[in-house]
Amino acid sequence: MPSATKRKKKGRVFSGARPTGRQHLGNYLGAIKNYVALQDDYDCVYCIVDLHALTTLETTENLRQNSYEMALDWLAAGIRPEETIMFIQSHVLEVTELHTILSMVTPLGKLTDLPTFKEKVRQQPHNINYGLVGYPVLMAADIVLYKSDAVPVGVDQQPHLEFTREVVRSFNYRFNTQCLIEPEMKATEFPKVLGIDGVQKMSKSLNNHIEIAATPEETQQRVMQMVTDPQRMRRTDPGNPDVCNVFTLHKSFSSPEEVANINVECRRAGIGCVDCKKLLAKNLNEHLRGFRQRRAELDRNPDDVWDILNEGGARAKRIAQATMQEVHAAIGLP
Ligand code: SF4
Repeated sequence: MPSATKRKKKGRVFSGARPTGRQHLGNYLGAIKNYVALQDDYDCVYCIVDLHALTTLETTENLRQNSYEMALDWLAAGIRPEETIMFIQSHVLEVTELHTILSMVTPLGKLTDLPTFKEKVRQQPHNINYGLVGYPVLMAADIVLYKSDAVPVGVDQQPHLEFTREVVRSFNYRFNTQCLIEPEMKATEFPKVLGIDGVQKMSKSLNNHIEIAATPEETQQRVMQMVTDPQRMRRTDPGNPDVCNVFTLHKSFSSPEEVANINVECRRAGIGCVDCKKLLAKNLNEHLRGFRQRRAELDRNPDDVWDILNEGGARAKRIAQATMQEVHAAIGLP
């Protein structure tokens, strides 16, 4: 993709993702492709939010490696570090200070009312930690620390962004300042990608995922395990592609002609699921070939990847320090 450095950008976009290690097709279709595309129109700040991850992790032994693997995937997929600031959240500790300050203008009830908090309480009743309650405040600190104009959000994240906007208004009102920017919501459709079980959202923890950096053989193996139309028991039964996750993925990775053909042939049992899956695996592997080559190339020099993350952290820190100077001045901190 040609560099868009010369084009006038529309503002700064911020987005963060927890370090989940090697990315899967759900991450790729749901976030990474969007990250790459946004670079053409915005100055982008993409953050690996390792501090956020601490709220739910049972162990931190893979944290560093997971951050590295995720960075590799982002870079190989087309994040351009010469333009985009890509960094690790904990490298810019100003975020923790801003988190503390913003927490002073945040009513506790607002945090405990957020649907995501309630969901986490359900998911990990044994570990309802303080950080979990303050999670959206840390998220707000991330966004406003880097003077972000917009944040790409899906439907489920909209309450969080609205919360950030409220926190900004509260802070600016309380300290009679305009130093924090109220970020715009960049409504984005994040396609929900189902796992190979065809039922639940693709996720590592459910082990229903297909890694984008998998080998062609591994990819084929995972695709062949995919659940198809449950009503199609025999090869001679007509199928319904509308309820088949294999067909859904074909729409992202196969040509329009192939998709149209499967749509017809599946319904009249003209194509079997085995052949349909083989075609998907082939197209997936072709689609990801360049990505995998770039990833392997990058992985040969891990120090270079860390340099990119460190350099991104240094650039992010410069913005963060300028923001914190304004925040200090607004509050009157000595
Ligand atoms: S032929 Fe393809 S689209 Fe139809 S049920 Fe089988 S795998 Fe799904």
